[in-house]
Amino acid sequence: MTTPLTDILAARIRADGPISMSSYMAECLLHPTHGYYTTRDPFGAAGDFTTAPEISQMFGEMLGLSMAQAWMEQGRPSRFILAELGPGRGTLMADVLRVGRAVPGFVEAAQVVFVEASEVLRRAQATRVPDAKWVDSVDQIPADAPLFLLANEFFDALPIRQFQRQKVDWAEVCVGLDADGTLQLTLRPAPGAVPGRHSDTQPGDIVELCPALPGIVAEIAARVADRGCAIIVDYGDWRSLGDTVQALRAHTPEPILAAPGAADLTAHVDFEAIAQAANGQASAMIPQGVLLERLGITTRAQTLAKGLTGAALDAHIAAHRRLTHPDEMGHLFKAIALGPKGGPFPPGFV
Ligand code: SAH
Repeated sequence: MTTPLTDILAARIRADGPISMSSYMAECLLHPTHGYYTTRDPFGAAGDFTTAPEISQMFGEMLGLSMAQAWMEQGRPSRFILAELGPGRGTLMADVLRVGRAVPGFVEAAQVVFVEASEVLRRAQATRVPDAKWVDSVDQIPADAPLFLLANEFFDALPIRQFQRQKVDWAEVCVGLDADGTLQLTLRPAPGAVPGRHSDTQPGDIVELCPALPGIVAEIAARVADRGCAIIVDYGDWRSLGDTVQALRAHTPEPILAAPGAADLTAHVDFEAIAQAANGQASAMIPQGVLLERLGITTRAQTLAKGLTGAALDAHIAAHRRLTHPDEMGHLFKAIALGPKGGPFPPGFV
């Protein structure tokens, strides 16, 4: 299938030469008229993928309780920014605010700020969290109050560059054209592009770098250096190795060049890169399943189960398993927190 973006990208490559994987991802995801996120709400059974907050309210409840507890432990600031990066449909924040009402003063003190690129999704978010404010990037989050921030499956949507180890140096994986004018992957020399990774890579190995990640993480770290915290959850692991860019359409993987702008494109998140950019303020990385268990998801699941029977009960049990079990999201997804210099981290993290 070709898409409007296929032709736009082919024309650009014909004129200027191959483009980096990060330029390709950026155009596919956020092109103003044909980008994946700019043109649709991709979530749910009828969409292309589903995410933890869409699977069960328990995900947002656990993260919300951790946030609210962190707010209490840090002196209950009477005004703070409760921010979320890439809030999707707004489901996670709605669950956080609902559970947060159990903690007196928390919701009243919070000004919700969403960092969201897509107008379509901003509208969806407004139906669930009408009092939110929206900004385009992390540095636009108001800095006049302590920051408590959440990001679930945001960093995996950030464009990455791919480098392939050659015998002695590196080459960048780019998107070019074959003789018929079809999009294809090509290599261009990139001497010295990936410092410090010679000892743990072999010729042919791929390493991915996310150019936007260090700046975003450093900004968050600076904002919470005295007070506040951030919880980041995403799929990925410690230290990038291997090609992890994937396209998903209607819950089915497809080749990444097949339908630019019509499929979701993501890459695994390099949690080592997050920790390195966090100015010494990052917790240990832990699997999502471990975090949710520490925060008490199983007790919460049992309480919710009491009110359910039949198919609803089966779905609830399946959702708990899906969020926590190592064979499902429990291990593939990881979590990391940022806190003030010298701590503390929010509950669930060390
Ligand atoms: N956190 C949500 C949605 C994850 S999908 C959930 O868990 O369900 C990724 C989200 O990030 C979408 O809301 C998308 O529009 C947004 N997004 C992607 N790239 C972005 C960017 N560069 N700046 C701001 N938002 C972005």
